[in-house]
Amino acid sequence: MIYNSIIDTIGNTPLIRLNKLNKGIAGEILVKVEYFNPGNSMKDRMAIKMVEDAEKEGILKPGGTIIEGTSGNTGMGLALAGIAKGYKCIFTMADKQSKEKIDILRAVGAEVIVCPTNVAPDDPRSYYAVARKLNEDIPNSFYPNQYDNLSNWRAHYETTGPEIWKDTEGSITHFVAGVGTGGSMSGSSKFLKEQNKEMVSIGIDTYGSVFKKYKETGEFDENEVYPYLTEGIGEDILPKNVDFSVIDQFIKVTDKDAAVMTRRLSREEGLFVGWSCGSAVHGALEYAKENLKKGDVMVILLPDHGTRYLGKVYNDDWMRNHGFLEDKAYGTARDIVA
Ligand code: PMP
Repeated sequence: MIYNSIIDTIGNTPLIRLNKLNKGIAGEILVKVEYFNPGNSMKDRMAIKMVEDAEKEGILKPGGTIIEGTSGNTGMGLALAGIAKGYKCIFTMADKQSKEKIDILRAVGAEVIVCPTNVAPDDPRSYYAVARKLNEDIPNSFYPNQYDNLSNWRAHYETTGPEIWKDTEGSITHFVAGVGTGGSMSGSSKFLKEQNKEMVSIGIDTYGSVFKKYKETGEFDENEVYPYLTEGIGEDILPKNVDFSVIDQFIKVTDKDAAVMTRRLSREEGLFVGWSCGSAVHGALEYAKENLKKGDVMVILLPDHGTRYLGKVYNDDWMRNHGFLEDKAYGTARDIVA
């Protein structure tokens, strides 16, 4: 098989059985490992769709500039699309994001503008506002706006959901994914529920984010918003890509539980994945322990690769400084001896 360009390798990622972390749980736990995409994350899927839909609608024209606010993974997908199709890319990022993500985007030729994290979304310094302003100022520029651009969920409706349905031969009973823009959860879940309306979808949220409370009460509660560390999931806004009607419930996972589970995925399953993967698996296993029955098939979406977090959850000093490294078994050899 010969591909015409890197973007033709997006999708068709493997579904892999958990072998150790699922101990004591009835039913089957499978993970869909999205780091097999060329940009090492599931966001490649929606990035290429946002670009191609914009081309079709005439919003993105030859020689144009793509401008986006990104936590890094969407930027990588857009950068690959930009290279393949000849667009310049400028990305705005919050300064809480891993340095690796910024370096990776610069490595593939994108311009990256780092903005403060702890300012309101409508503050002119926020990464959302800076992206919008650049879009106004730069002629022939396209601002995909992954939060509200519906090509985002449609990409997962057209690819991620159908791949899961096909690979489980229609046996999936539970779907679990973290929710940031909401595109991956909403698009995949909508497709899967259309095939089997009994299928249960569980969204993973963070402490410091509005989704769980909003689902339960219909209320946007600003008191739910406070700083947290986990990257890629949870929001202080309600993006248009979150379709609450196809998400049955939300589970919140702490930064620490997510970080510890991320390291366990690497060391016990050989899945060198990103931090929000730990959130998804921690929440999924908590749910599964109580609710999964023999014959059930749970699929957990794992968004990205571990290299982006080498300076954080995979760094023992960082973990210790945040009070996350109590279990010596996951420290260094030196810790275990001590
Ligand atoms: N995890 C990571 C690492 C991400 O970059 C994202 C994207 N924001 C998500 C999870 C959440 O995915 P979505 O935006 O589709 O809700």
